[in-house]
Amino acid sequence: MNRQNEREEMVKTQLIRRGISDENVLNAFRKVPRHMFLSPGQASDAYGDFPLPIGSGQTISQPYIVALMTELARIKPGDRVLEIGTGCAYQSAIIHAMGAKVYSVERKKELAEKAGELLKKMQINDIRILVGDGTLGWPENAPYDSIVVTAAAPEAPPSLFEQMEEGGRLVIPTGGRLFQELMVFVKTSSGIESESHGGCRFVPLIGKYGWKN
Ligand code: SAH
Repeated sequence: MNRQNEREEMVKTQLIRRGISDENVLNAFRKVPRHMFLSPGQASDAYGDFPLPIGSGQTISQPYIVALMTELARIKPGDRVLEIGTGCAYQSAIIHAMGAKVYSVERKKELAEKAGELLKKMQINDIRILVGDGTLGWPENAPYDSIVVTAAAPEAPPSLFEQMEEGGRLVIPTGGRLFQELMVFVKTSSGIESESHGGCRFVPLIGKYGWKN
């Protein structure tokens, strides 16, 4: 099966069948070459229904979880989106393919550099990556229409609420160090509303408002 067919199959069996329906999300998954974000040895597993290691002890989530988080963020073309946890930049590329402006923060310099080089090679020049503690957000470019955190925190960092537009959505796994709930927090004129979207398992968010190393 060629890569394009593998992606179509992934979209059909892993995403649509489990309820992902935002066409802009589905089209991004049809378009972005996930295998290019992984090491050459992982290419045959790239479109599988499971998470994969990306080096430095970190993992990229299975396609469904990336899609669910992206759909929950309700991203529209032209939105300004902050992502915390660049990793291999697959999720950044998905959000970028949806027509949003992406700002991504990664705490590990080696991952951020590798991600930056890959995006350059793919001629994606407008995703901005910062090396730093994403639990503090990226205040210089705030406010954001939505924020997606791809590592797990004990609770939602207050700095992220401050950097959201009214109506903005924060998608973040919160809970214990090993198991969490996928949460959506919406900033409204009367405060923060929250909803849970089930159990999940992410690597820890490490920083001032995350876990201590
Ligand atoms: N979204 C990524 C997967 C990220 S895995 C992808 O598509 O590949 C989670 C990432 O969060 C790891 O790379 C980890 O180093 C990073 N991370 C952990 N704590 C962080 C923090 N405080 N700020 C920024 N990144 C952090």
